Amino acid sequence: MTASPRVVFIGAGPGAADLITLRGARHLAAAEVVLHDALTDPALRAMAPQARWVDVGKRGFCASTAQARIDALLVRFARTQCHVVRLKGGDPSVFGRLEEELQALAAAGIACEVVPGITAASAAAADTLRPLTRRGSGRSVSLSTAMTADLGMQAARHADTEVYYMAGRQLGLLGRRLLGAGWPQDTPVCVVSHAGWPDMLASSHALNGLAEAAMQHAGRPTVVTVGAGARAVTGGARSSAQTVAPMRRAAFQGIAAT
Ligand code: SAH
Repeated sequence: MTASPRVVFIGAGPGAADLITLRGARHLAAAEVVLHDALTDPALRAMAPQARWVDVGKRGFCASTAQARIDALLVRFARTQCHVVRLKGGDPSVFGRLEEELQALAAAGIACEVVPGITAASAAAADTLRPLTRRGSGRSVSLSTAMTADLGMQAARHADTEVYYMAGRQLGLLGRRLLGAGWPQDTPVCVVSHAGWPDMLASSHALNGLAEAAMQHAGRPTVVTVGAGARAVTGGARSSAQTVAPMRRAAFQGIAAT
């Protein structure tokens, strides 16, 4: 007989609390301890008011000592509590340091379950009405981190649509690296910060103008979609400029109507 899971990893999604899955919310409601990231919506707390909430969020570049401390906390709580939840922003499997935490728990003999969440790339595609895949022209999608462990900037041309995470601080450099990787100057690029949040901001650019987005999105979690999936969907009387900007997205800008 398999033991019931001791730690449940839950993807909180990128923003508003209602973007968590029903399964995630159900596990959260049963939690005794929640170790959570900084990016998750505080409104999620209302889903587990009985739980002890422990902020283990790390901003920017993760020091390995900070990760080791999270791993140790997870093991410690799992040994003393029945329902331990590790709440992560977006999807735990995407740039979420999930491997390290699963390894630490496996080494301690502690069972786990992972509940997926909506990753920032998907939320950005939804907010901007720009599908990541396109029939005929967008057959592949690549999710990349622009930053490597040595804090170098990497960019490539692997897929029809490339989505870069963790590039917000260096959009100009990312643009230059993408040009160097062979993307044409007029490649469409869509930059979305706080995807899934009420104050979501999106702007679209040609690749050689990507640096212009830096000021607009400064200090906000940002994803950069490049290529086929960054193209506005047009056609019909209501084109993207009208349909993409509901009231709560008043700040939406830069999306061409044609
Ligand atoms: N697991 C998360 C990613 C964590 S890495 C996920 O699946 O979305 C952190 C990076 O994710 C940020 O630097 C940023 O590039 C991106 N990100 C997270 N939340 C975001 C949001 N709401 N809007 C735009 N980008 C976001």
